[in-house]
Amino acid sequence: MRAVRMTAPGVLEHAEVPTPQAGPGEVLLRVGAVGACHSDLHILDAPEGVFPIPMTLGHEIAGTVDTVGAGVDGWSPGDRAAVYGIIGCGRCRACLRGEENRCRVIPVGGIGLSRDGGLAEYVVVPASRLLPVGDMDMTQAAPLTDAGLTPYHAVELARPRLRPGTSCVVIGIGGLGHMGLQILLATTAVRIIAVDTNTAALDLAGRLGAHHVVQAGPDAVDKIRELVGPAPDGADVVLDFVGAQPTLDTARQVVATGGQILLVGLAGGTLPVRPVADEPPPVPLETGVVVPFWGTRAELHEVIALARAGRLHADVQTFPLAEAPQAYEALRRGDVRGRAVIVP
Ligand code: NAD
Ligand code: ZN
Ligand code: ZN
Repeated sequence: MRAVRMTAPGVLEHAEVPTPQAGPGEVLLRVGAVGACHSDLHILDAPEGVFPIPMTLGHEIAGTVDTVGAGVDGWSPGDRAAVYGIIGCGRCRACLRGEENRCRVIPVGGIGLSRDGGLAEYVVVPASRLLPVGDMDMTQAAPLTDAGLTPYHAVELARPRLRPGTSCVVIGIGGLGHMGLQILLATTAVRIIAVDTNTAALDLAGRLGAHHVVQAGPDAVDKIRELVGPAPDGADVVLDFVGAQPTLDTARQVVATGGQILLVGLAGGTLPVRPVADEPPPVPLETGVVVPFWGTRAELHEVIALARAGRLHADVQTFPLAEAPQAYEALRRGDVRGRAVIVP
């Protein structure tokens, strides 16, 4: 079968590989669509030894069951499903609570992270990772599994502070951010301030219903402050889907006393939190800082329900598998609006 694989750090290329077979408890899925997540660029940029090489990338997958392995109940050829990408140990305290994204044994285990992913015609996944998607378009189902699930989980973590009438700053309106914005609109009554460097992303944010859009830049903090009020007031919640130094500096300068920063993006910035007695604190007092990771299977079930109810829709740009490397180049240049989705 055709696959697109990381064959060396920074190298993504086409390969012809044997079609894998479903082992006991597993399912062979014909990939219907796979989202190009910015994390794949971080995986490609990681030094040798962090991720398996060679490895087929792609952790945002939807497809159709082709064959089922021994002992698989409840799934048959032809069934359409989205893939929950995390593989926890299944036995630790967190996994037993259904929080596989907090597994105490396998820190970042998953399809397309620690074993072959979905940038291929077929992928083998444990049957327990599948969730039904009904007749949903595959290019809509795939982005739900990460671009939808990760912001949904972050919003769940922030939910106690997302009271009606509060304000939430959303930084980075890309794959995750444009879904996060819709999740806020569908499940809260907060005032949303969308921030991005890219005007096309801000246009999308406005179309989706953000109450205010702010161009990222040197005066962004002042512009956001005009909307959320001067310190010690500010934004109740900041969702940072970038995680670069300028966005973290913005986040800590606009968050309210007692507010919360959710640091989702992995762009490598540093958020200082150490208070010093005779200096203004780097973050306001009582600020909560959370570093969310992906989400739970139960949350993905809810994300799919939100989409099937017509409340969550990925803005997608599709590419054939033959053009997957070009899709990632476009993502790196910042030329993708919403989510790039690859259709094998
Ligand atoms: P994306 O490239 O689709 O979107 C990023 C958006 O941020 C773009 O709209 C871009 O214009 C904007 N941006 C970039 N620099 C900016 C700046 N300085 N100020 C304001 N906006 C800026 O990326 P994505 O797929 O949505 O992923 C976003 C980040 O989240 C990545 O770092 C990714 O690795 C990470 N991620 C984390 C998790 C997790 O579980 N924590 C899960 C998935 C993705
Ligand atoms: Zn991802
Ligand atoms: Zn575990």
